[in-house]
Amino acid sequence: MSAGLFNRVSDALLGLIYPRRATCMGCGSRTGFPRDWLCEDCRQALSSRWVGAGRPPEGGLFKGAAYAYHYGGPAGGLVRNLKYQGVTRLAAGMGRSMASVFALIQPTGADCVAPVPMHPKRLRERGFNHAALLARAAGDRLELPMADALKRVRNTRQQARLPDDARRANMAGAFELQMDVKGKRIVLVDDVCTTGATANACAKTLLDGGAEAVYLLCYAVAGEENRGA
Ligand SMILES: [Zn+2]
Repeated sequence: MSAGLFNRVSDALLGLIYPRRATCMGCGSRTGFPRDWLCEDCRQALSSRWVGAGRPPEGGLFKGAAYAYHYGGPAGGLVRNLKYQGVTRLAAGMGRSMASVFALIQPTGADCVAPVPMHPKRLRERGFNHAALLARAAGDRLELPMADALKRVRNTRQQARLPDDARRANMAGAFELQMDVKGKRIVLVDDVCTTGATANACAKTLLDGGAEAVYLLCYAVAGEENRGA
């Protein structure tokens, strides 16, 4: 038996013995036996990064904000795998984590969850809107319908590469309403909140359209470690 064939056969046998052996979606290691897509180290690291009720982005537009985790570490790995690697099955568990922090900011309920929209061009390229997957998963758990309240009318440049004021300028006029939001209490959903420029631009559009209140629910909060309450 050649060495290559031997390796393939032993890999196949290991696969039978350890069927759950797979790549950890937090750190990429293949040594663990992931539960909820994470190795044991990442599961522990993630639980130490839990946020809960947090400070909304500056600007006073949000009535409250909740974030499941601080960005980075395993939370960053999960977001990147969902968003850029297309591991869409991660959304269910991430949405569950988001749903569990939501009660901390809005115990009296809301009308709907609304994802931060993607520009149609980028949506065609990626094939899915990760924020919509998270909104649907969190909404299912919270028994709130998902509403595509907003559309992105400008294909904004990648926010991550821009300094703060450029981010704000970049987002001005980027969103428009695509449904009647008058009197509605809306939970805006995104994967990560960094400076809050995107979230604020969405909230402004919703409030200008007559929404009664807007809450922010994100899987992770980045930048300021002290944003969590
Ligand atoms: Zn890991």
